[in-house]
Amino acid sequence: MTSHTSAAADTWLGALDRLRRVPGPYFRATLDVTEAAKQLGASVETVYALIGAGLPAEEGRGGPRLDYHDVANLGLAAGLGRSLGELAEGRMLRMAAGEPEGWVKERTWRLRLTAPCDADGCPGERPTTPRPELLDGTLLDFADAGDHIVATVVTRGLPDAPRTAAVRAVYDDLLAELDDGTYQFGWLPHRLRALPATAAAHGMVDCRVAAWIMERRAREAGLAARVRVGFVLGLVGVEHAWTEVLEGDRWLPLDPVLAFLARRHRTSNPAFTDFCRGSVHNRLLAWPAAADRPLVAHDCALGGRVTLACNQLMGR
Ligand SMILES: [Zn+2]
Repeated sequence: MTSHTSAAADTWLGALDRLRRVPGPYFRATLDVTEAAKQLGASVETVYALIGAGLPAEEGRGGPRLDYHDVANLGLAAGLGRSLGELAEGRMLRMAAGEPEGWVKERTWRLRLTAPCDADGCPGERPTTPRPELLDGTLLDFADAGDHIVATVVTRGLPDAPRTAAVRAVYDDLLAELDDGTYQFGWLPHRLRALPATAAAHGMVDCRVAAWIMERRAREAGLAARVRVGFVLGLVGVEHAWTEVLEGDRWLPLDPVLAFLARRHRTSNPAFTDFCRGSVHNRLLAWPAAADRPLVAHDCALGGRVTLACNQLMGR
């Protein structure tokens, strides 16, 4: 074994040490070892070594099977930049590159919306309508185009910042807790992210759980607060959630999760950390859904689950 591969092995084992595992009731063994290796950007031998070192797996037909979220979070924790989760995160965080003027200039987006169901034979749902005006944007069009909807929206970023220590603290405290590992940011099973108090008690947060924690703390501090849900726009839009706190006559968005993630990517502008404390980014699009509900409701006869997809359409 060369020193290079043994350094990588140490990195994987260190990440496994820090990994907050998906709690038992939410664990689902869906990935085989080959799929897990692909997800991690590692060898099959590495996955077997990690299972031997304690990465949770269930013995199934054809070998051990792992939980998709454990594997994704292990990739994020290792930080080798090879896992599929990190590559997706890197694409999303191009929003933190460049100069702040670029984050707040007016942009027009043509978006392809679908809401497919993961049950075979289910037609899915009609996508719900975004509400760009919740963040000072405009919905120009929302039109059926056969099996999908084309939405045209204008987004306008808005630089702003808290004027009071109480609002600043809501953001700064959670960012510090992400930095010091009090909360581990990761991908959560949908049944767990629907139970933010349970996820937080396990020290695991995704954007929705983080937004819920900040909403609760802001209210405890006597501030009006709400969770907002939507998408980070891009070629492949990513579902996202953040918290808005009322200060004076305006609602300030607080998004320490994006700031935390951006700092892991060397292309990010350091000014992005302050920007996420109160500013609106021109890649954010809001939906009118409640924080604890999916963006598209779906009562599936086949037991499936719908996810909204919102991707940028290029060209005319
Ligand atoms: Zn369905």
